[in-house]
Amino acid sequence: MVSDSEDLKQTEQGNKLSETSSKKIFVLQCAHCKTLLGDTCSLVSAQVELSAIVLSKAVNIAVEDSNFEISNNGIDSGSAFHLVKCSGCSNVIGRCYKATPRSLDHIRDMFTLFEDNLLSYPLSCSIENLVTEGTKEDNQNETLYEVKSDIRAMQQMLVILGDRILRMESKFSKTNDC
Ligand SMILES: [Zn+2]
Repeated sequence: MVSDSEDLKQTEQGNKLSETSSKKIFVLQCAHCKTLLGDTCSLVSAQVELSAIVLSKAVNIAVEDSNFEISNNGIDSGSAFHLVKCSGCSNVIGRCYKATPRSLDHIRDMFTLFEDNLLSYPLSCSIENLVTEGTKEDNQNETLYEVKSDIRAMQQMLVILGDRILRMESKFSKTNDC
C-alpha cells in the first residue's frame, strides 16, 4: 500500500518535471546513428566524473540484462551494471547500474549515458506560458520551484557540454602539435 502511494507520488512528480522541463529541453540522440534516445525532461543528474548524463527514461535502447559488468576503478568502483546499447546501431552507449557505492545511489536503475555517445540539441520553447502561470498566486511557489529545476538542468547540461569542449580542445591542440 505504502509503495503504491509512493509510486503515485513519484509519477506525479515525474509528470510535473516533464511539464517543467518542456520549456527548455535538450533532445538526446545516439552519436553513432542519430537515433533518438531521450530528452532532458527525464534528466536525473549530470555525472561529470563519469562524463555521463543520467536519465530516468530513455527510448530506443536495449539493456543487456543477461550479464553483469563490474567496475574496478574510478568513482563507480565496485558497482555492478548492465550495458545499455542503442537499438539503432547496437553500440554500447551507457550503463544501467544495479549496485552502486552510496554516493551514486541516485543513479541506480537509471540510464547513465556517456556523453561521447550522445548528440544533444536544445529545443527553444515558449517561456511565455511560464510567465502567465506565474501571475496566479497559487502557482507561484510551484513556478519558482520549476524555474529552479529548469536552471539546475540547464547548468548541468552546460557543465557537461563545457567539459566536452575542453576535452575536444585538448585533443585538437595535441593533433596540431604533431
Ligand atoms: Zn545508435
